[in-house]
Amino acid sequence: MSETFEHTPIPALMPWQAPQWQRLGAQWLAGRCPHALLLTGQAGLGKRAFAEAFSALALCGQPRDGQACGSCKDCRLWQAGSHPDFLRVEPEKVGSPLKVEQIRQLGDFVSRTSGRGGARLVWLAPAEAMNINAANALLKNLEEPAASVIFLLISDAPAGLLPTIRSRCQSVAFPSPAEGMALQWLHDHGLEEQQARRALALSGGAPLLAARLAKPDASEVREQFLNELTRVAEGGASAVTAAGRWEMPPEHTSLGQLLHFWQQWITQMAQVRSCDLSGDSQLMLLLQRLPGVGEESLRPLFGFYDHLLQARKGLTSGANPNRRLLLEELMIRWARLFAV
Ligand SMILES: [Zn+2]
Repeated sequence: MSETFEHTPIPALMPWQAPQWQRLGAQWLAGRCPHALLLTGQAGLGKRAFAEAFSALALCGQPRDGQACGSCKDCRLWQAGSHPDFLRVEPEKVGSPLKVEQIRQLGDFVSRTSGRGGARLVWLAPAEAMNINAANALLKNLEEPAASVIFLLISDAPAGLLPTIRSRCQSVAFPSPAEGMALQWLHDHGLEEQQARRALALSGGAPLLAARLAKPDASEVREQFLNELTRVAEGGASAVTAAGRWEMPPEHTSLGQLLHFWQQWITQMAQVRSCDLSGDSQLMLLLQRLPGVGEESLRPLFGFYDHLLQARKGLTSGANPNRRLLLEELMIRWARLFAV
């Protein structure tokens, strides 16, 4: 057989994932691994890569030091993306829902016998992207677990899952790492200290997200979008014009991502006002323009945060909302927050 296949390396563990790895790895090696795991935590902590590394371990024919060896037949099949006992279930496009047909295919996979005689792994992300039909189809598989199948469900927003799904999984929580560990990791990945600190704060403590935000593409777009929101708040740009400009965000970003930035800024504004902190100067200026004083003035801001949340849900629900109208409505509401 030719050895020239495309190679996807088995992901390395992030330093902050050691406790979770030790627990699950030990369970696996002792033959006590639950048949369904739900990996939770905010985006940007490396949960997907962790689930990949765990899959590789569970399939590896000769694990070394509690990790997949990377060189046995199973590891080579995994790296080639062609291991018959590994199934990856994800939306066809980023931000699209997981469809019930995809979950049905999963049923075919789990009812087959193992291709290589060992465990079979289902990697599924983001779990909250399943609509109700898809979730119910998955539930059937979780209720009657096929022997030797392990489900790895990954979710940034587990509250969006059916409680019956959550209750059938062993939950593995991924908290944000300590700041020092995160900064060290960012430093090791080429970020200067100040840049790393800023990106880490923006990411809410998630190093992988911080590394993405620090890339010139994403951070430039972020900055431009914040400038636009400031102009709208100041009355220097009309909400409708701004919506037209951002309906189709530049490359490397999505409308959902822009709304996520927007939510983060609101969270920061609320933190600055309620804790009397100082923050990003542009956000401080926006705060000063907000009518009212003290915590009372934050109420409309929280209301707007909920609108953003709904809008993001709409974008991922598969309902395919009119993006222009959605953004116009948000921009108009945003402008009203600052109208005296
Ligand atoms: Zn191996």
